[in-house]
Amino acid sequence: MQRFLGLCAAFLMLCFAPLGHADAQPGLAVAVNVRHVAKDLWRVDYRFAQPVTALKLYSIGEFRKREWKVLTPGMGMASGPDFDVMASKGKPFKAASVQIRTFDGWSPKEYVSFARFGDGGTAVYLGHLQGEVDQGKKTLSMRTDFTLSGLAQENVIAPPPNRLAPGGRRGYAYFGPAQAVLAGAAKVLFDPGTPQWLRETILDVGAKTSGYYEKAYQRQLKDELLIMVSVGNLESPGFSMKGGAIQGAGQVSYRLEGKQVQLDHPKLREYASKTVAHEMAHIWQLAISRGGIGDEQAQWIHEGGAEAMALDALLQTGAWSEETALAYRAKQAATCEKLGGAVDTFDGIYACGLVRFDKLGVGIVPLWRSMMEATETTGAAYSRQMIDTIVSAK
Ligand SMILES: [Zn+2]
Repeated sequence: MQRFLGLCAAFLMLCFAPLGHADAQPGLAVAVNVRHVAKDLWRVDYRFAQPVTALKLYSIGEFRKREWKVLTPGMGMASGPDFDVMASKGKPFKAASVQIRTFDGWSPKEYVSFARFGDGGTAVYLGHLQGEVDQGKKTLSMRTDFTLSGLAQENVIAPPPNRLAPGGRRGYAYFGPAQAVLAGAAKVLFDPGTPQWLRETILDVGAKTSGYYEKAYQRQLKDELLIMVSVGNLESPGFSMKGGAIQGAGQVSYRLEGKQVQLDHPKLREYASKTVAHEMAHIWQLAISRGGIGDEQAQWIHEGGAEAMALDALLQTGAWSEETALAYRAKQAATCEKLGGAVDTFDGIYACGLVRFDKLGVGIVPLWRSMMEATETTGAAYSRQMIDTIVSAK
């Protein structure tokens, strides 16, 4: 169904399917007002266009169990394996209100619900406020319209609207003192703690790979693009850079953690460059007017495809040497072999996804150019069958 995909993290990034998939019923309009009411306190008010009997939000670890308090009298929240469900003992309702505390925990394969910035700002993942509604036995996706308000003096930056699925999944909204800066066609919001070498890498590799993808895949960016970079946990060992691109929602988020964030080292630049090229590849996979990301079975296509597109772009733009790309491919091939070639694990999706694309014997650029044409022409999501049809015709 339309459960979303985890994150994309070979080095950890994300990737989601939209709410409101081909198999979902047309959504019910829901106005969602998110208010920052105190430092770590948020108030969220839902208003439904028609009465509903349940509000169902995809489970996300302990977040709602621990930090959500239902304010609407008579209403409660129950947590099941797939959904946290808010209901009023089966009675229809048109509004629901909750109070939420900032949550610092996270499940490794999901987006964090809140990202704290070094400037005291907070980014809130709006996707965790979205889900489905029930009207008796009927289930509808939510066609969400958000309004956001911050504390006095606080700057609020909303994620771009979801172009592919209007009212569908949204990304991170920022509440805090920072302002976004323009970088080419993108808006970028840097945590003030972002070191210079990472600012350079994110902007430079982002611009170069975008330019390359635009020419190679003969497509302009369709989304307004907001890039958000937060920094934290600088005491933890090593270096971690996670990225996430949100389907149709015009946003790439990066989270930087670890002692080595301050360390400008060629190996870390390579790693960061790959993360950026991978996320920008997702943005190009979605530079289409319909179709796109499929279900969980197709995750290896999006992730392995983004890996293959990224390696090509890194080589063609000179960000990576042949040796670096060869070593990376060898490492991923070894990981895939250990997994027996399967794409049913987190590592397998990336490593074996890349191996599968490498084995097709078709250039990644003509292949993905044809896939984008196919998804747009038919409206069907990217799939194994689509790839096979294209490969057999070449
Ligand atoms: Zn990815």
